[in-house]
Amino acid sequence: KTVTVMDIDFFNTSMNAFLKHIVYPDLANGNKCFIVTANPEIVIETRDHPEFKKVVQSADYVLADGVGVVNAAMLLGQPLPERVSGIDVMYHMLDHAAKQGYSVFFLGASEDSNKKAVENAEKIFPGLKIAGRHDGYFDPADESIARMVVDSNPDIVLVALGMQRQEGWIADNIDKFDKGVFMGVGGSFDVLSG
Ligand code: UDP
Repeated sequence: KTVTVMDIDFFNTSMNAFLKHIVYPDLANGNKCFIVTANPEIVIETRDHPEFKKVVQSADYVLADGVGVVNAAMLLGQPLPERVSGIDVMYHMLDHAAKQGYSVFFLGASEDSNKKAVENAEKIFPGLKIAGRHDGYFDPADESIARMVVDSNPDIVLVALGMQRQEGWIADNIDKFDKGVFMGVGGSFDVLSG
């Protein structure tokens, strides 16, 4: 089920299988799930930062977000079917959420980028339920941000705080939620905001 590259267990899946067998059922059943989309940069970062490595290893699913990881797995004789990129998973989840009525919280990026990303998401995915949104420039010790996200009762929480910070935020706060699919999305709000 997994392929290990530099101590990180990558979930052995294609994009379609991941959505169909993991994400959509977890959303339908209200299962909590922590997804890390790991590119080679993240894998290297875990080597130098043991705390970050623990966070990545605590995720339910680590996806190979980069040909570098896919190639490394192939060289280790345990091929992964394809690259599963974070931004693609995000777009598929938003599409599914709009169709099925799941709500999404957008946490992270600058206020301007966050606002525009939400506006564009609403345009691209008509009917998308926005649980809430907040920029990513807050004091991590400020508990009120996590409380606001919890109180919005989101089905999906997209966290764009940059590598490490976003995964750390999810690991630190996921226990406060009853449900939710959580994923760090790096610079994806900046892309979505146009
Ligand atoms: N970001 C944020 N809060 C921070 C640092 C970064 O919200 O304290 C956002 C930033 O605005 C950008 C995203 O996180 O939208 C990804 O940042 P960056 O590309 O620097 O991170 P990387 O994922 O490349 O480490």
